Amino acid sequence: MLSIIIPSYNEEKNIDNTANVVSDVMEENKIDYEMVFVNDGSKDKTWELISRLADERDNIVGINFSRNFGKESAIFAGLKEAKGDACVLMDCDLQHPPQVIVEMYNIWKNNDSIDIVEGRKSSRGKENPVYKCFSLLFYKLIKSASGLDMKASSDFKLLDRKVVDSLNEMPERLTFFRAMSSWVGFNTETVYFDVAERFEGESKWSFKSLVKYAVNSISSFTSAPLHIVTVIGFIMLLCSIILGIQTLWRFAHGSSEGFTTVILLILFTSSLIMISLGIIGYYISKIYEEIKCRPRYIISDKKKSNNLKNI
Ligand code: UDP
Ligand code: MG
Repeated sequence: MLSIIIPSYNEEKNIDNTANVVSDVMEENKIDYEMVFVNDGSKDKTWELISRLADERDNIVGINFSRNFGKESAIFAGLKEAKGDACVLMDCDLQHPPQVIVEMYNIWKNNDSIDIVEGRKSSRGKENPVYKCFSLLFYKLIKSASGLDMKASSDFKLLDRKVVDSLNEMPERLTFFRAMSSWVGFNTETVYFDVAERFEGESKWSFKSLVKYAVNSISSFTSAPLHIVTVIGFIMLLCSIILGIQTLWRFAHGSSEGFTTVILLILFTSSLIMISLGIIGYYISKIYEEIKCRPRYIISDKKKSNNLKNI
């Protein structure tokens, strides 16, 4: 069985359509499936629609969060709940074309050695140019820090049960699904897809939430910023030695002034120290978050179609 995990946040306009399109594609291709909708604390009627689907139709699992915990938590809740031999993650807005799921499924089914089928974007769809610039910068940072090329990667992936189990065993609270699913290894095959236009509604990402996501992702996956602090420290040391020698030389020749330079240097170094402290503080706050060991999400409600109740 294939589990299709669909995180949904304020998607009342999309739920019915997505369920119809996905189930049509699965039935057409005779794939045994379940759809796991995770309602991430939506403020609209998303949960009502999901629970109605579970009452009226087959193959639907619904999970309701007690509040909005974010897409990452919704993904991991879906992985935990899924019973399939393989799981696919897709967005609720049909930007990940369901037809590609069939392609992924066939690759996984026909090759015993393939455990992950990764969807890569062959084009990024319609995007705001500012957003595009920042996302390019973000992926460049990730690539230089961790060696993972994630520019075209997406959350649209098929994972074998082995991979899902190993992801479920990872204990951290602050997750970054895309990087974690490549960190676990396993044989990966790639399929390319064109990002479709959002079916209904608007993207949930504001500029602020994207910046937060980027900073979170980078810090939860690499400690490179901390090493950068050390490197900058050494560069500053080198500069101080050169400047120190120059100042001493001038002092010996009786011309030691430079009040402006002193002020500028103090301002410059103190800003650098503050920024470095900030970076260190950020990592400490992450340790604090992790050490509290709070759950990644809280489930307030679950629903299952009748045909899945005894699985
Ligand atoms: N999503 C979620 N929780 C959130 C934000 C988004 O579960 O806090 C879901 C959303 O319902 C959708 C998917 O994540 O299924 C992708 O969101 P969106 O389409 O807004 O992002 P974009 O496609 O613009 O990257
Ligand atoms: Mg979308």
